[in-house]
Amino acid sequence: MDLFDYLPDQKIQVCKPCGYGVSPGNFGRHLAKHHPNHLDLSRKAIHQVIGDLTKVPLINHRKEPIRLPDPTEPHFRSLSLWRGLRCPKCPYVCLADNTISTHMASKHPSAIPSGRKPRTAIPPDPIPRIEVDCQRFFSKGSGSGFFQVTIMPSPEELEERRRLEEMRRELSREDFIRAQIEVQIKDIQEQLEPIESCILDNQDPTEASPWQEMTRWSRYLHGKDLRIVTRLARLPDPATEPELHCIIQSLERVVQSAHQSVCEDKINIFDQARINSFILQRRAFDRPLMVKLQKPTWRIYIKVWSCLLCFARRTSQPDCPIGLAHRLTPRQLTLLDQLFEYAHRLVQWQRVESTSESSILDGSSQEHICLSSFNRLDNTCLEFCISLLDHILRGDLFESVVIGFFAAKGVNEEKKILKEAYDYTPTLSAFIKVAQMLVIQRSVRAAEDGEVDYPGDLLDEMRDRFLLHGTHSPFNWALRLRAYGKKVGCC
Ligand SMILES: [Zn+2]
Ligand SMILES: [Zn+2]
Repeated sequence: MDLFDYLPDQKIQVCKPCGYGVSPGNFGRHLAKHHPNHLDLSRKAIHQVIGDLTKVPLINHRKEPIRLPDPTEPHFRSLSLWRGLRCPKCPYVCLADNTISTHMASKHPSAIPSGRKPRTAIPPDPIPRIEVDCQRFFSKGSGSGFFQVTIMPSPEELEERRRLEEMRRELSREDFIRAQIEVQIKDIQEQLEPIESCILDNQDPTEASPWQEMTRWSRYLHGKDLRIVTRLARLPDPATEPELHCIIQSLERVVQSAHQSVCEDKINIFDQARINSFILQRRAFDRPLMVKLQKPTWRIYIKVWSCLLCFARRTSQPDCPIGLAHRLTPRQLTLLDQLFEYAHRLVQWQRVESTSESSILDGSSQEHICLSSFNRLDNTCLEFCISLLDHILRGDLFESVVIGFFAAKGVNEEKKILKEAYDYTPTLSAFIKVAQMLVIQRSVRAAEDGEVDYPGDLLDEMRDRFLLHGTHSPFNWALRLRAYGKKVGCC
């Protein structure tokens, strides 16, 4: 069983993805709640898995004390690691500053500088505390106290470091990066293969539509008028929604410059391969991001994001005809307001310019104003798009406007039904491709503005935060949905 790690000295089964111990009576509930789709559970019945877990002696941590390791002992590989504070008088460890103050006040009152309030403005001596690495066995209740540990690399990690050092010495910089990327791609593919086959294994041919179940659209759209929902995700009418029209033109310019950045190699070939390496592609390294698409294809691709921006704006308005479950984050809201405001000003200005016979401004200042307004609009547009991707989903999936939008796009307006996978995966491909272009453009811009030294620096950061498989992000959901859709759509 790969999911758990048994600690023989403490007699605890630690759930590896969660990084904490699970009490013996709680295995069933924990697995159902946190890992319903784990491979171990599709291969065996749940009671069998629990049977395996309980074959070894297990502690009842609510009644018996757990053996705490010595602070010099190496850390437990399967438990989460924290940076904590240790009491200078005893082994007590906690995470927060004020917790240690409370601990000192109750356990070692004499160690605290006397209660007399100093009359001067000089603050009292801070309570001494020591920063340490720490872990805990359980996430709550008894056994959830932190204890100090010493981080020690495993023999494999030491071996890996030695190997990397050797490679770095012997290879040129480019070859070294190339080798690193190849290793990463291999790792990701190895991780993904079992997940993909697991999706197939779970598929039950008698179910109405596993695709519908996977998308959960019916839950998000439950009781909603589907005609209104599709209208919210439509392209704008330039006459009645000039600002939205102006915004989607801005998006087109942004994607266009991203396209140019790739063609002009502003982002180097390694980074291009990198952004693609999280997608299942046998030879991702040989195939950096494909941008040589036909013009009409690009137009269709950008259309998906254009509709997304319109959907975000329309559903954030107080007069939106239906209430949907997604919520914009404060950052998304601020950027969207700004974006709309810039678009509004530009629309007004264009209107004045087109109606007045002769412009008040001379040609060059007019051009200058125009250029800077467009730049500001495009930059905000790009920022807003990135903020939509950079939405870590801690609770419900449908908190994300992107995922809500996927549902809205899943409605077949004519037939008033939800689209099936074969009909839908192209939408996800378009979303993914344009998202990659936007991330590239954001990285290129950051390097041009001096925010980072190389585009690759920010690219790596964004990739780790919200593009990689395993991150809880809308992008990752799109990848999973597409992988699933392709499996179920072709049979
Ligand atoms: Zn777990
Ligand atoms: Zn203490």
